[in-house]
Amino acid sequence: MFRNAKNVGYVMIGQGAIAQLEDVLKPRREAGGPAVWFFDHFFKTGSLAGRLPIEDQDVVVYVDTAEEPTTDGIDAYKAEIAARIGSSSPCALLAFGGGATMDTCKCVGNLLTNPGRAEDYQGWDLVKHPAPYKIGCPTLSGTGSESSRTGVLCNVAKNLKLGMNSDYTMFDQLILDPDLSETVPRNQFFYTGVDTYMHCFESLAGSYRNVVVDALAEKAIDLSRQIFGSGDMMLPENREKLMIASYLGGMAAGFVGVVHPISAGLSMVLGMHHGIANCYALSALADIYPEQHAEVAEWMARQGIDLPKGICRNLTDEQFQQLYGASIVHEKPLANALGPDFKQILTLEKVTAIYKSM
Ligand code: ZN
Repeated sequence: MFRNAKNVGYVMIGQGAIAQLEDVLKPRREAGGPAVWFFDHFFKTGSLAGRLPIEDQDVVVYVDTAEEPTTDGIDAYKAEIAARIGSSSPCALLAFGGGATMDTCKCVGNLLTNPGRAEDYQGWDLVKHPAPYKIGCPTLSGTGSESSRTGVLCNVAKNLKLGMNSDYTMFDQLILDPDLSETVPRNQFFYTGVDTYMHCFESLAGSYRNVVVDALAEKAIDLSRQIFGSGDMMLPENREKLMIASYLGGMAAGFVGVVHPISAGLSMVLGMHHGIANCYALSALADIYPEQHAEVAEWMARQGIDLPKGICRNLTDEQFQQLYGASIVHEKPLANALGPDFKQILTLEKVTAIYKSM
């Protein structure tokens, strides 16, 4: 079977590009219907929304990103938006935020044109009808959500972190403007930013590969080294480079390795954000990824980023069992990294020891 790869249709890159959003939106406005704007709740204060071409008929939603997006949360946003727009179809959906806000926009989009609940579409190619036109404007870079075909959701009842993987999940247009990431706190900028490095080295270290994905991943890693190996990762040119690295990394997202499954356990059981959970996961995987472990530790020291130890110190046996369950369930990435017998390497004892060392 040959993979029929889809990419985002339009991408605008550069400082100040967001000023062209009105032009980008114009052909959509001609179709009628409100635009639905998703903002990270961080932007409830500040001047961003006031600078954007929001019209009276539009719907503005502030996404609570204190926790990772959940299937129940997506159902709630979908119900709220459906009630507010009534019988009209949105002319466009727009997302301003990091992975959580972009994934919320992507997943709600699928539910606006497909019946049922969010959990019905967790998996591969389950979405049947195209979503409304979606414009992604990342304000926090690294997850690659802006260019990936998934929207990752935590299903609390099933103890399962899994995306809606579909061509319809993808954005149609991106605006990558480094001015939008100027106000991100330093720790968050690092934890999220380094996610693209994690995706790409895990992809390159795995056994399912192709030349295009390798090329994108190698370039994203090269950019990551320029950014985090520099004196200040948050200089304007580095913020632009990170937006591009994240975009390339999202396109390179093939199969990941051990970091992401271990990270998923932390998100499911401790409610930890993806980026920082990855950093904890890699900090405990020096035996599997020695070079990357050392490289990220060096970057953290250089950029003044801390990762307090002892996060799993007071957990119960039941919680370690849950951590094991929520990580070992990711069979494709674990087999990609460790081969088909990965369960003999990652036993309950080994996985518990990994978490205890964080
Ligand atoms: Zn990731």
